[in-house]
Formats: sequence, structure tokens, C-alpha cells
Amino acid sequence: MRGSIACPGAETARYGGNTSCLEVRCGDALLIFDAGTGIRELGAALDIEAKEAGRPIDADLLFTHTHLDHVCGLPFFSSLYGADNRFRLAAGHLESTRSLHDVLGDMMTPPLFPVPLGIFSADMSYTDFTSGENRTPGPGITVRTAPLNHPNEATGYRVEFGGRSICYVTDTEHVPGQPNESILALIDGADLFIYDATYTDDEFAGHVGWGHSTWEEGARLADAAGVKTYVPFHHDPGHDDNFMDQVAAAAEARRPGTVVAREGLVLRP
Ligand SMILES: [Zn+2]
Ligand SMILES: [Zn+2]
Repeated sequence: MRGSIACPGAETARYGGNTSCLEVRCGDALLIFDAGTGIRELGAALDIEAKEAGRPIDADLLFTHTHLDHVCGLPFFSSLYGADNRFRLAAGHLESTRSLHDVLGDMMTPPLFPVPLGIFSADMSYTDFTSGENRTPGPGITVRTAPLNHPNEATGYRVEFGGRSICYVTDTEHVPGQPNESILALIDGADLFIYDATYTDDEFAGHVGWGHSTWEEGARLADAAGVKTYVPFHHDPGHDDNFMDQVAAAAEARRPGTVVAREGLVLRP
């Protein structure tokens, strides 16, 4: 849930230092969003679970986009090396320019990385779609998508299953005073709304054009769309635990029930 770069250390231990990775369970179906450094620990947990259950892992891995902080954990996702496992990777920001397969392949090319994308022994598929399309990764699961305002583009997601909804909206920049209509439509009445809260409003003026938003803008969007629980996410790596405590307190005062994302956080919509 960190933005930009992992930031391990004593000052970030409570909120966590790994970059974006989200696990969503819809009944027996497993959806994973982004492959930041957090996906390494997810892989370890999934491998144990699969071994105990005696069945392979079958999952969709959906990318908001392919900036390094959202893909760099991929080669260290141990479940991709399990020959019986099956992963469907997809992204919505590249169809007009590149393919997800080629972009991830570029990352895993010597001398940037020693082993190629083909090293994964799981059954892998790579799909490019257009942000705005709906997807149905499994029975009864609808994934709605929307384009975000980010350099090189990004995709926001809304997962609907069993009458509940989770929205994952990172990385995106807002225009002050002009709520993003496409995000408002995507998150309308959602149970959980996870949002790019890299900065505070005070910091934002110095970061216009960087592609990120603020926790206060997330609260405004959550109010306007009638969201139940707002989850600020993608914290600036420079925001240590003490700073994040202040953000959490301010967010709670601004919108009671707000849950600032931290490593290992489990939410049930
Ligand atoms: Zn990011
Ligand atoms: Zn980005």
C-alpha cells in the first residue's frame, strides 16, 4: 500500500513499507490487484494454503498499470513457479500502445533482471483490455473498470460479488474543485473505496502533474458517491508512522469510519 518505492525501516514498520498488492476473495475465487513488493508475502501465504488444501492456486492478477512500484514484485511471487497453478494476468492501460506480456517481459530482461518472463512454470495468460470495459473473472463476479488520470494511464476497478462491492482506485491525480466524474460513477454507493491518497491537500500544490491525489480528495469523492468505508492507500514513502497517525486521526475526524491502509489489513465489506 505504499506508493512509488518500498520503504522498509523502523519508522514505517507499523503502516508497512511494501508497495501495492491487494488480495480480494469472492467465495472461492481469488483476485489479486497489482504486483508490488507486497506480493512476495502473499505468495508465501498462498503456497501454504494451497498445500494444506491439496489443490493448486487459480487466480486473476489485474494491474492498475505497469509503473515499477506495481509490477516489481512479480518475479518474487513464488506461486508463479508452481507448475500446477494457473494465473490470468490482465491490464487495461496498454491496449493501444503495447501489450502487458511485452512490458513485463521488458522488465525481466538482462541486465535489468537475470531471468526472463518465461521462467514462470505456472499456466500463465496475458490479456490487454480497454479501461471502461466490464470483466467477469468468475461466476457471479463483475469487475467494472474506468480509466484514471495518470502518466502512461492507469485503470480503476470495482469488484461486485454477493451484493457487496470493493473499489480499487490508484494511481490517479485530481483537479482541485472538479470531482472526477468517471471515478464517481465507478465508486457510486460502494462498500469499500480504496484510493490514491499519496499526499495531503497541503502537499498537493508541489506535486501537480505527478499523477497522484490526496486523502482529503478521497474523502470528498467518498462523500459525493455515498461510499460506506473509505480507505486511503498508496502512502508517500516519506510519510513515516507518526505522520500516518496524524493522517489517520485527521481522516477519522473528517469522515468517521475511515480506515487508513496498512500492511496486512483485512477488511470485510
Ligand atoms: Zn504507484
Ligand atoms: Zn503510477
